[in-house]
Amino acid sequence: MAPAATADRLLAGPQFSAGAESFAEHRARLGPLPIADARNGLIDTIERSGLLGRGGAGFPVGRKWRSVGARSGGRAAVVANGAEGEPRSAKDRSLMTLRPHLVIDGAILAAAAVGADDVVLYVGMEHRAAVDALVRAVAERPLGGGPPLRIVEAPMGYIAGESSAMVHYLEARDARPMAVPPRPHERGLGGRPTLIQNVESLAAAALIARHGDEWFRATGRDLTPGTALVTVTGPVAGTGVREIEYGTTLRELVDAAGGLTAATDAVLLGGYFGGWAATEGRWDEPLDPASLSSRGLGFGCGMVAFLPADACGVWATSRIMEYMAGESARQCGPCIFGLGAISGALRRLATGAHHDGDLADVTRWAGQIAGRGACHHPDGAAGLLQSGLRVFADEFALHERTHGCSRPTAAARRV
Ligand code: SF4
Repeated sequence: MAPAATADRLLAGPQFSAGAESFAEHRARLGPLPIADARNGLIDTIERSGLLGRGGAGFPVGRKWRSVGARSGGRAAVVANGAEGEPRSAKDRSLMTLRPHLVIDGAILAAAAVGADDVVLYVGMEHRAAVDALVRAVAERPLGGGPPLRIVEAPMGYIAGESSAMVHYLEARDARPMAVPPRPHERGLGGRPTLIQNVESLAAAALIARHGDEWFRATGRDLTPGTALVTVTGPVAGTGVREIEYGTTLRELVDAAGGLTAATDAVLLGGYFGGWAATEGRWDEPLDPASLSSRGLGFGCGMVAFLPADACGVWATSRIMEYMAGESARQCGPCIFGLGAISGALRRLATGAHHDGDLADVTRWAGQIAGRGACHHPDGAAGLLQSGLRVFADEFALHERTHGCSRPTAAARRV
């Protein structure tokens, strides 16, 4: 059966206009928390479900939980990652705002499964509605339903959601990545094994704990089962957050969102850690991590950002690289100077003020900065840049040759 373009599971429940689902509504809809089962076999169930992390990397959730559980000795920590520093992604903040108890359920069940006595809800400080919803939701929960829950507001910035930066911030209020290893799952908060899991992954685990792995596998695809939240932006009638089955095609997603409102020939898939793709010939290809990765693309944070056909890909790529350069935690030379130099050259190419050799330099640097930082920030930036150079090759060549642009630049600001 073909995947459905919309299949509400994570977002099932009251109308979005009603705001956050209350604890009473949540409990009436989904029943009690299966906490006893979580201590006995939930990791097996999550592994059988095939749930992949929804934060961007797509790592198997069950394997991560087992790794922390094996080291825990009952003193692990769980951090629910709701930092969502990706600028145009809104799926985590929407989930926390609308279904806070599902996220909290997932964190409590994860703590029971891995043996943790400390649970932190780490929420981007700029996501005020999500912070407020979680504060209210924690206050609504009955006492004694699990370990104490702490809400910590994450500082603004792309890098604050990186796992070692998160541990560093929680310990020392300094959200800069630390050299690894040890990884947080080995030694994280207070030296304890620490499970850091994206909030959507935790919410999905809370549903699997109630409904089972076969229920989860009934949607999506064999290698990538289940549903995922995506953020749709650009010239589409119904922009915003939607829940899709893995394997939904770009065409089905756009149709479910009310269709295009203007022509588009490129789409940014997976966010700033993902990459550009030409839409031509891709409308019927499935959106899921395995399929996208086989084509050199990524599902990432689930961002699907269409670029209007009258916008300039050089401008759009330049603006993203400028942002990425500005988000460097300024610890590693290749990241500070490499991203800075790339951003400067791209800006010159976009505005027609470039020097001879700027495009050749950018192309060479794009292949040199990956793997050169203490964290993966430069790797993501390099991947994005390489995709832009490939997809917008004609526009880059035109800019280089004519010092001009054939498209209105203002529209690039929509990405
Ligand atoms: S690679 Fe960049 S963002 Fe990552 S730690 Fe080094 S300077 Fe900071």
